[in-house]
Amino acid sequence: MPAHQGVPLIQFRLIIRNPLSEKETGIMRLSQMLFVTLREDPAEAEIPSHKLLLRAGYIRRVGSGLYAYLPLMWRVLQKISQIVREEMNATGAQECLLTQLQPAELWKESGRWDTYTKAEGIMFALTDRQNREVGLGPTHEEVITAIARDLIRSYRQLPLNLYQIQTKFRDEIRPRFGLMRGREFIMKDAYSFHVDETSLKQTYQDMHDAYTRILTRCGLAFRAVDADSGAIGGSGSQEFMVLAAAGEDEVLYTADGQYAANVEKAISLVADAQPSSFAAYEKLETPGTATIVSLCDFLQCSATQIVKNVLYQAVYDNGMTVLALVSIRGDQDVNQVKLQNELVRQGAQYGGKALLSLTVPDLEAQRKWAARDLPLGYISPGLSDSYIQSSQSVSSQFLRLADPTVAELRNFVTGSDESGYHVVGANWGKEFQLPPQVVDLRKAAAGDRAIHDSSQTLQSARGIEIGHIFQLGTKYSKAMGANFTNEQGEELPLVMGCYGIGVSRLAQAAVEQSYDKDGIVFPVAIAPYQAIVVIPDINKSDQVAAAEQLYQDLNQAGVETLLDDRSERAGVKFKDAELVGIPYRIVTGRSLQQGKVEVVQRATRTSQEIAIEAVVPTLKQWIAEALA
Ligand code: ATP
Ligand code: MG
Repeated sequence: MPAHQGVPLIQFRLIIRNPLSEKETGIMRLSQMLFVTLREDPAEAEIPSHKLLLRAGYIRRVGSGLYAYLPLMWRVLQKISQIVREEMNATGAQECLLTQLQPAELWKESGRWDTYTKAEGIMFALTDRQNREVGLGPTHEEVITAIARDLIRSYRQLPLNLYQIQTKFRDEIRPRFGLMRGREFIMKDAYSFHVDETSLKQTYQDMHDAYTRILTRCGLAFRAVDADSGAIGGSGSQEFMVLAAAGEDEVLYTADGQYAANVEKAISLVADAQPSSFAAYEKLETPGTATIVSLCDFLQCSATQIVKNVLYQAVYDNGMTVLALVSIRGDQDVNQVKLQNELVRQGAQYGGKALLSLTVPDLEAQRKWAARDLPLGYISPGLSDSYIQSSQSVSSQFLRLADPTVAELRNFVTGSDESGYHVVGANWGKEFQLPPQVVDLRKAAAGDRAIHDSSQTLQSARGIEIGHIFQLGTKYSKAMGANFTNEQGEELPLVMGCYGIGVSRLAQAAVEQSYDKDGIVFPVAIAPYQAIVVIPDINKSDQVAAAEQLYQDLNQAGVETLLDDRSERAGVKFKDAELVGIPYRIVTGRSLQQGKVEVVQRATRTSQEIAIEAVVPTLKQWIAEALA
């Protein structure tokens, strides 16, 4: 047996550099850098990572959703970008850089100009001096498809995967949490082109694997989850969620690791309904029971015996308003994303392609189309279409949709279309017609049983969406006429995939996942510097001399090292080093007399005295282990 067997092999990923001077590496002396930390939490910040990045001098707010990346942050972003680049290149993807200004014509070709500039209003649009409309790129499907249309002719050029790392612009409704949701942010976006679905699936899997490596190398705890593909369709998409309490997304997963999905997309087995306690149909006076809880209380029945009818108002991109009446079991909630997708699927009959809005109409909104007051809280599945005052822009009939949870109910309780009254003991095919369209519109929730194994229950976690990989199919290539000729000489639309990573969001998510009461604990791979040498008292020449030497030696050995040579108290310097989150701190203090320095690991706070000559090899080894 070879001698090394059983001994873990340490993989050295450190780039071995030639000795570099400060001229080449840049000054890393705090006394000469822009290094300003804040003692107080800034009022503008709500979540820990945002507070810490502001306090530690990584970012500075310039305007709503606009942040300057200060020198420390810029190093973090470059490190993340480099990891992304290496892993993307390893899959055979090629880097390019597309324009940030995008002509409106391209977006009109894909049909997204109005949705992006007006309906969602997410795209910054402007008119140039020649009176041409342009937008600031929120994403680049149109630009890349136009390029592919011009340059890809034959199956021989395929597959192809192009990516860029670039600033994106989005006029977010609610920019917040610093870099988490900015109006200007850095994204890696990749777009792949294929002859068919099989080839697309291959690259999609490669991207899945690359994303897994990227996030692992960045030192993050994450989960890949099934995601909603929206109206675009395609065969699927997954999001990469960094797990953190402050995450805006909810993830549902099972402990066996077999299922994980964004709540927008999640499916589950619904709990069994309780048998109805009503045998005969009758209308009952049920005053003050507009909510499910109050109704259950009043009738002493289970919410699983109730057919709840929820009214939604959808406005399509052609201006058409459609009132959707959704029947769902009383103990369940409607998943608005599923409903939205269904309405888009049904759009053709109303002449619409996309939705401009989907809301539960308030009284103000009802006034635009309601012929008379609606029996809100007491609506039945049979609510008469005569409640709608139809017009050119309002569909004259309710779009009636039923969730599968109501289809099987017998002798159920539901509204009577008269305020203050419900009916009990009702049945489909007798008192009410089951809507012809039964579609899954239910929001899965923690505690539900899993579809793949009913002994598993769904659990909930919060996540920060860091990446999204997407099988686009032919949506853009068809709309924009981007075709290629296959082996048989047929002309076909290119099959596409797209893959995004929020680089600047990732930087902050790493902090959200790793901090303590004293500050940031940056993973070694993306920390702005790996080590910091602190001189406790710059008036002591032996401390200064030893620190200068270590600072030089470490940097020459390829350990990215700062020198805190400021004329501050030692306590201030230690606090700053902890706040900024540099992984290793070397202090040239009292133990110099024994030829030693103190070395502190930021993550574990363990401190040890190490002989001066052992510092460089020890740190090199720790860093190599951390990056392995
Ligand atoms: P979200 O649902 O969070 O708005 P999205 O679905 O709009 O994200 P994509 O269009 O898929 O996001 O963009 C790819 C990646 O870019 C996202 O996974 C996210 O990491 C990042 N990202 C999107 N919007 C922002 C933003 N406003 N600020 C920072 N990063 C963002
Ligand atoms: Mg978004």
